[in-house]
Amino acid sequence: MRREQCAIQTVPKSNPQSAIRDSQSSDVQHLKIVFVGHVDHGKSTLIGRILQDTDSLPEGKVEMVKKACAAEGMEFEFAFLLDALLEEQKQNVTIDTTQIPFRTLRRRYAIIDAPGHKEFLKNMITGASSADAAILVIAASEGVREQSRRHAYLLGLLGIKQVIVVVNKMDLVDFSETRFHEIESEYQKFLVDLGLEGRCFIPASGKSGDNVARRGEKLNWYQGPTVLEALDALETQRADVDLPLRFCVQDVYRFDGRRIIAGRIETGTLKVGDQLVFSPANKSSVVATIERWNAPANGPAVAGDSIGVTLSEQIFVERGYVASHESETPIETNRFHADLFWIVREPLRVGHPYDLRLATQDLKCEIVSIEEVMDSSTLEAKTDQCEQLERNEVGRLTIQTRGPLVIDNHDRIPNLGRFVLVDDGQICGGGTICGGVYTDRQVAKSKNIFWSEGKITAHARAARSGHRGAVIWFTGLSGAGKSTIAQALERELFHRAMHTYVLDGDNIRHGLNSNLGFSPEDRVENIRRVSEVAKLMADAGAVVITAFISPYRMDRRRAREIALEGNAEFIEVFVDAPLEVCETRDPKNLYKKARAGEIHDFTGIDAPYEAPEDAEIVVHTDQQTVDESVATILEQLLPRLRAEEAIE
Ligand code: ADP
Repeated sequence: MRREQCAIQTVPKSNPQSAIRDSQSSDVQHLKIVFVGHVDHGKSTLIGRILQDTDSLPEGKVEMVKKACAAEGMEFEFAFLLDALLEEQKQNVTIDTTQIPFRTLRRRYAIIDAPGHKEFLKNMITGASSADAAILVIAASEGVREQSRRHAYLLGLLGIKQVIVVVNKMDLVDFSETRFHEIESEYQKFLVDLGLEGRCFIPASGKSGDNVARRGEKLNWYQGPTVLEALDALETQRADVDLPLRFCVQDVYRFDGRRIIAGRIETGTLKVGDQLVFSPANKSSVVATIERWNAPANGPAVAGDSIGVTLSEQIFVERGYVASHESETPIETNRFHADLFWIVREPLRVGHPYDLRLATQDLKCEIVSIEEVMDSSTLEAKTDQCEQLERNEVGRLTIQTRGPLVIDNHDRIPNLGRFVLVDDGQICGGGTICGGVYTDRQVAKSKNIFWSEGKITAHARAARSGHRGAVIWFTGLSGAGKSTIAQALERELFHRAMHTYVLDGDNIRHGLNSNLGFSPEDRVENIRRVSEVAKLMADAGAVVITAFISPYRMDRRRAREIALEGNAEFIEVFVDAPLEVCETRDPKNLYKKARAGEIHDFTGIDAPYEAPEDAEIVVHTDQQTVDESVATILEQLLPRLRAEEAIE
């Protein structure tokens, strides 16, 4: 909404030509374009030229700038025009996203993050300006430069796939066809390596206007579209409205005795009567009313709207929560993979605490590991040092947050799949989330169920016992050593005066889960119940150790989500040993029975085991003794259980 306001401010108000165009325009949708490219390759001039040739400048603006140039004894340049416009906007508008509108016969455009805008990289990565398409400018006289590559990389990272490459300043190379093709072939190769596609390469001159709005006479060897024709040929991206609902809570107000949950709809639509699921608590309620400022209440709200809602059943909601519809919930996790672009001089370091901001969420996090580092300009991958990320490098990394985070994969819902890392109040890098696993949320089937918040807080419990509640989730093949290590670990924790308990697979199947077998559905339900029990025990302040094969990745994800919903720490421990080793140990003679066909669906024999991809802790019991495994676990576990962490 704020961006719209900004755009409207500079639309020429009394321009008859624009009015005619409006009525003719077949597609009134706004297309957002970002101009990128190496410094001094002519972005501002090109933009100035486009504004002039599409008649999009406020009346008298060119004359004013021309006069100012003459007074200073300088030759008029379109770039000055842009500077003047930006300056004016800066005074009128107190927002950090600059938008400059223009129109063609086909539709309206908004140029976002105009060059010269110091915050360019920052805005790109924070998504303050998610563009539909990009114009990448390369000066024919200089050719492909560092930023020509870096900015393209960023576009790829942000999922901006439509790229028009303008080979600018053709007048400086005598409109040479050979020079144009040289740049085209070099740069096309680079784009292909990035998985991007240059929609078209256009030889042009912003200064003389050739091939911008009109064909260039000296470029008649070129048969393709002009810049404006190429823009008009672009498709609008899938609108945010068509994506699943993500309503990000900014604040909760009490007003006239009602609780109004205020926030912004990032994607999708929301109506009165909708059943919403609030993550990370996974609590559900129905929208009773929609409140708006300066607009009629209760109509459906759509992506981009800032609204307030009241709920029919009161549930605990606070800033940072994300509401969705039940059928398309986001991912809830405290550990995820991302591609991160680093923009500050001080390198990113593994283990250093950062603030992570995603929509209205703000959490402390830590980089667990950097799997790969790449220079965003040369695309060279470094695999030797993966301890830090330097400025302008991109890393594929694993991040762990302190507490639950609500996310989406960037390729599914960009708005919730994008985050920034902040150090000491300064934005240092931006990332996109990939490879997250969506699980099926089970929301209570029965109505009229209320979650009563206890009066004794987790902090109070932690303060008394000296440690936080947590779920330590062991997974691994039968015979890998889960029960053995769990019991040894329990002993160690107990001796440290901690409240701890082992939930063992077989024991649970004796009682709570005695009605479940080993079919895939029963295994899922088995793990779900165990997860819920573990969460309650962790809520009571215990360090719960679970020892279940839990062969499905999805179930373990769900176990994590359930624990995080209860605000408990969740730590996955992969007790790893090769199948042959487990089979030789065969402590309960189960492998023998499975091989003899007496047991069916036995994990590792005739049922699959999906090994964890990023467990917090891995022990290799074919190489480590029980004591060594316990030591490995304790080393990583104890710091995370300290009560001070919970109280900070
Ligand atoms: P699970 O709970 O994973 O099915 P168990 O703990 O019941 O496995 O059985 C593992 C068996 O392997 C036990 O008999 C244990 O004594 C034996 N074992 C041998 N070496 C190790 C080791 N290094 N770590 C864990 N268990 C081991």
